[in-house]
Amino acid sequence: MKALDDLLTQETFSDADIVRLLGLTDPADCKRLRRAAYDLTTRLIGDLVHYRGIIEFSNRCTLNCRYCGIRRDNRDLERYDLSREEIIESAIWAAENHYGSVCLQAGERRDEPFIALVEDCIREIRARTVSDTLPEGASITLSLGEQSPETYRRWREAGGKTECMRYLLRMETSNPELFAWLHPDGFAHEKAYESRIQALADLRAAGFQVGTGGMIGLPGQTLADLCADIRFYQRLDADMLGMGPYILSGGGDLLDAGMMESGPLLQLALNMLAVCRLVLRDVNIAAATALQALAEDGREQGIAHGCNIIMPNITPRPVRKRYQLYDNKPCIDEEPTDCRACLEGRIQRMGRRVGWNQWGCSRHFRRRMNLPVEILPLGEPPMRAGSIAVPFVSWRGDAVRTGSRED
Ligand code: SF4
Repeated sequence: MKALDDLLTQETFSDADIVRLLGLTDPADCKRLRRAAYDLTTRLIGDLVHYRGIIEFSNRCTLNCRYCGIRRDNRDLERYDLSREEIIESAIWAAENHYGSVCLQAGERRDEPFIALVEDCIREIRARTVSDTLPEGASITLSLGEQSPETYRRWREAGGKTECMRYLLRMETSNPELFAWLHPDGFAHEKAYESRIQALADLRAAGFQVGTGGMIGLPGQTLADLCADIRFYQRLDADMLGMGPYILSGGGDLLDAGMMESGPLLQLALNMLAVCRLVLRDVNIAAATALQALAEDGREQGIAHGCNIIMPNITPRPVRKRYQLYDNKPCIDEEPTDCRACLEGRIQRMGRRVGWNQWGCSRHFRRRMNLPVEILPLGEPPMRAGSIAVPFVSWRGDAVRTGSRED
């Protein structure tokens, strides 16, 4: 069998290689994988982590995904909608606090009032976040599910420049049987495997930077399934990935199926993030908040495994508790200002800097669109603080020196 260190320097990977890396459990091997992903991120993307301030503006959903705490049939949940002004004010707060980007997320609806509200908010946010520090306003990610090609076109055009509009539509799993088990049928707009794939193609046609992803550690999911997910992201030519560990939701419909124990689940999720970095190379990868539901430093560990995006929750605090797709969601009691300071410290402890006032476009997208790639800022090797071993990489233009400060 090939030595692990040789495998980790490859630029292309067979399915067998991917399955082997995903299944690593020996701490020393996992550390090698983590360091390879972190160093590749530094080399291809730089040392900046970009924020997407997430605004969860409604927990109403017309769908009934079995894993989800805000699914339509969860009658125990008090539903809420932020007003137009609350949504826009939240985005303005983000821009004034130097976030270059916001994300609008809600349950899935396809009615015209909802579509028009989103279109209006996009226009307003783009116009009202222009400032000296953000001369072109904030960029926007939408996470609003499957919509018609016409809706995608309206929302994309409302944002103006193509570089500033992104859409995250997670496939959840590329395994059709597992997908069908997670999504009941029989309703007009329930998710179907084929329509999900078509929606991803429609997003690309509308001109969005397209992100997808899935759940890691689903009941019945195998390493081969996760490898197939990575191949799916490759075929899609995804610009961004948003993946997270599968965590049971009391409001969902899968209580009997259980979930993995948190330790092995966290390791599997981190392995998946690292392997996606090695295989997909220059895509944006988010460190999901769900990682922090498994370990207090879960998102930092995500950064150590190749993530370069963080999504601080800037939803007004009074409604946050009512947007829980899974149980034990962290950071639901903090004010947005608390998150800002807390997260920056966490990121710096991982040897990264926050890309304040930047859109943080996917390099993969820019390369795909033949757009100029932003000049990488040159970061000083940050001092380590805190208790997590930080892979150490110094960045000097093209010259990259790797090593370790502790481990
Ligand atoms: S996962 Fe999304 S579409 Fe499915 S029930 Fe939850 S909010 Fe609705």
